[in-house]
Amino acid sequence: MPDAISANGDRVLADLNALRAIGTYKTGVHKPTFSDAHMCSLEWLAARLPGAGLSATIDGIGNVLGTSAKAGPKLLAGSHLESQNYAGWLDGPLGVVYALEAARVLNPASSVKGAVEVASWCDEEGHFGSFLGSRSFVGGVTEADIDAARDRNADRSMREALQSVGLAGRTRLTAERGRHIGYFEAHIEQGDRLESSGLKIGIVTSIVGIWQYRIAFTGEQNHAGTTRMAIRKDAGVALAKFCVAIDGSFPAICGPRTVWTTGRITLDPGAPSIIPGRAEMLFQIRDDDPAVIDRLEEKLRSMAADATAGGPCSVAVERIRTGAPARMDAHFQDAIEAASASLADGKSVRMPSAAGHDAQVLATIMPAAMLFVPSIGGVSHHWTENTDDADIVTGAEVYVETCRRLLVERI
Ligand SMILES: [Zn+2]
Repeated sequence: MPDAISANGDRVLADLNALRAIGTYKTGVHKPTFSDAHMCSLEWLAARLPGAGLSATIDGIGNVLGTSAKAGPKLLAGSHLESQNYAGWLDGPLGVVYALEAARVLNPASSVKGAVEVASWCDEEGHFGSFLGSRSFVGGVTEADIDAARDRNADRSMREALQSVGLAGRTRLTAERGRHIGYFEAHIEQGDRLESSGLKIGIVTSIVGIWQYRIAFTGEQNHAGTTRMAIRKDAGVALAKFCVAIDGSFPAICGPRTVWTTGRITLDPGAPSIIPGRAEMLFQIRDDDPAVIDRLEEKLRSMAADATAGGPCSVAVERIRTGAPARMDAHFQDAIEAASASLADGKSVRMPSAAGHDAQVLATIMPAAMLFVPSIGGVSHHWTENTDDADIVTGAEVYVETCRRLLVERI
């Protein structure tokens, strides 16, 4: 009897709804990292992995990994199971359930000489840090990093949280180099590009890098009434001028999809009767091309040098976060496109991801790829987040077929 090598749409929808029933909030979920609902979801997954021919482990940072003893190539697949606070039901679980479904369909198939291994990465949503689970798996998290991590929702350290959920002292799993042909993650788009174009599948070409800066302005604190305008060194005014100058000069040298944002601004001391002697702004740039970021950062630094030379305040630019953009694997993109051609009427488009995902972390050690399904109204990080059932099923079919192609082609 031939193998039935296709996704079971009803099973995928039932699994996603089962996960939604854990930690339900309105039509979405509330599953912060290491909450009861999050831990129940990890146990739910671990209990289902043996049915896909996988041995399940929940490791010392809350990653779930299902490994296969089957011979042949291994494809790593997954996403995350915690949510933002009071958020949607598909952000994360969609990719985990697709991976589970691919494993259930492909691992027992005799025509597929290899296996899908399933992962759920802990804390993608950043309740304790930045991609702590996937970064731990690639060897990028030290014990000191865990010592320093704290819960942004509660007054507790990550160590306390790990202790309370029974994970303290467990080994953290790390990637066995060369074991996997690559990593494949599905996710809701979280934007409206697919929906507004009537498309069903987004083939991610790259995940933007996020660079963050602290820009500090130093002037002279003085009396707001007695200090003449001509001799003031007002750090607040210097900041405002700098902010405007960025918007004036970046468009000529940025890339087609570069975005930049000024975050928190602080004036010190921030009293109307005192000229601020110091001011600070947090500033973020996103792009998928490091050369563009280099150019913009160089511009920031030269603007700061010019402003300092021109006076009356000095300006210092400090980079506080670097997130290298991640290119998705070209061969994997072709496999998604071919699967979309046969199972989604070719309604696919190649597009960058403007949001961060675990795939960018995995891409540092192996080929990685991502598939998007449409988000209704482009809504995400909100409990109303949703995708049509039919689109969820189409996405699952394309996902499983892509996994099959990737494994079979490697024989
Ligand atoms: Zn997500």
